[in-house]
Amino acid sequence: MIVIDGSEGEGGGQVVRNACALSLVTGQPFRITNIRGRREKPGLMRQHLTAIEAACALGGAECEGLELRSSELTFRPGKVTAGDYRFAIGTAGSTGLVLQTVLMPLVLADGPSTLVLEGGTHNMMAPPFEFIERVFLPVLNRMGPTATARLVRHGFFPKGGGRIEVEITPAPLRKIDCMERGPLEACSATALIAALPFEIAERELRMARKLLPDWPEEAFAVRQLPEQVGPGNALLLEARFANVTEIVTGFGKLGVSSEALAKTAAQRMAGYLASRAFAGPYLADQLILPFALAGGGSFTTVKPSQHARTAADIVALFTGRRFGFAQQADGTHLVALT
Ligand code: ATP
Repeated sequence: MIVIDGSEGEGGGQVVRNACALSLVTGQPFRITNIRGRREKPGLMRQHLTAIEAACALGGAECEGLELRSSELTFRPGKVTAGDYRFAIGTAGSTGLVLQTVLMPLVLADGPSTLVLEGGTHNMMAPPFEFIERVFLPVLNRMGPTATARLVRHGFFPKGGGRIEVEITPAPLRKIDCMERGPLEACSATALIAALPFEIAERELRMARKLLPDWPEEAFAVRQLPEQVGPGNALLLEARFANVTEIVTGFGKLGVSSEALAKTAAQRMAGYLASRAFAGPYLADQLILPFALAGGGSFTTVKPSQHARTAADIVALFTGRRFGFAQQADGTHLVALT
């Protein structure tokens, strides 16, 4: 039985999700203690429960300790069954994070699957739908499988009610090398707004335009969503290169001004644009699992986050494979199995 101290490294929900995914793929049971030990409110929250329940449902797994606030979980995997699944988080918890938990097992399953996920689609601290669709899945698909995602309805905190649908055609994961992003092909700044003053979106775009002066005027647009999905607001900054797309998102939140939100997002995008790295910080931690399961390949990234390093530690526990993070002369970091 693999034993994990959930307070080590990044010490958040990602450790549990990655452990479930790796357990289902490798067939090894695990026990985790001190779950989310580094968080202010430790233990399993509603959205983590849904992610683990989803892993149990499609992976025939058995769990002990699967309760709200639980700080210890034992997970015994069964056989992963491809098929049609629907998981409703029941709160505004992130659909993207549930997807992270079950995607690798389904990508390596013995038949196609469809997933309907209901909850939040644009949550702080989680990949928004567009990131999954246009940043993460294109890289995964280059490795062999075909996974496509469709946004049926937006879901924002605190109301939730969003819906995404994902179709997965499995294939063995191929090793790929993602070193160069290639030339910039397009960029856009989209302010999503639902049941909130239009002016919020305009102020975000004004600030983003100021900090991204090379982006053309027509790249900046407001997208007003149906009132009933609101209230909600997110600013999506997207840079499409020949080989990879990066999306930096600012999530609207009470108490954070439109200008402050847009400034942080635009500065992050400017930082990525100024580097030569293939993967931004979030894509990097999300690529650790597929690259580990492919048994090789490499990618360049900006300074590796604690999330990425912790994901690599969990991979080592389940597979014995270790990642190296080596800074290169051009300032990027090369991530590859050693
Ligand atoms: P906790 O509350 O314990 O921190 P969590 O379950 O919300 O946990 P994290 O452990 O922080 O999750 O993991 C968040 C995941 O979401 C990571 O894989 C990270 O790459 C991804 N993520 C967070 N913010 C973004 C973003 N703006 N764009 C894309 N991906 C994101």
